[in-house]
Amino acid sequence: MSCGCLSKRRGDKHPNWRRGFTVTPDGYREIPIPGCTGPHRYKSEHRAIMEKILGRELASWEIVHHINQDKLDNRPENLQVLSRSEHAALHAALSAGGVV
Ligand SMILES: [Zn+2]
Repeated sequence: MSCGCLSKRRGDKHPNWRRGFTVTPDGYREIPIPGCTGPHRYKSEHRAIMEKILGRELASWEIVHHINQDKLDNRPENLQVLSRSEHAALHAALSAGGVV
């Protein structure tokens, strides 16, 4: 069971600090993992919130989608769990409809 510490992400894409959380270059908010001191001590806030809602850890193939497309809007009602393929299909449909 990993807390995400062992993620291979390197410091070259250094996230920006903003009051207690970071925003990654691809626009996701990350929060510190309590008690974790590994090289990657942060996890995506939207995934952490969804794990809390589900009461279990998300599998690596499970994607938490932002329903309104705002990656910083991590309200539970804006989050939806999809498989990787469902998520790709949804985004393909959204961009085909002109809404990205
Ligand atoms: Zn998405």
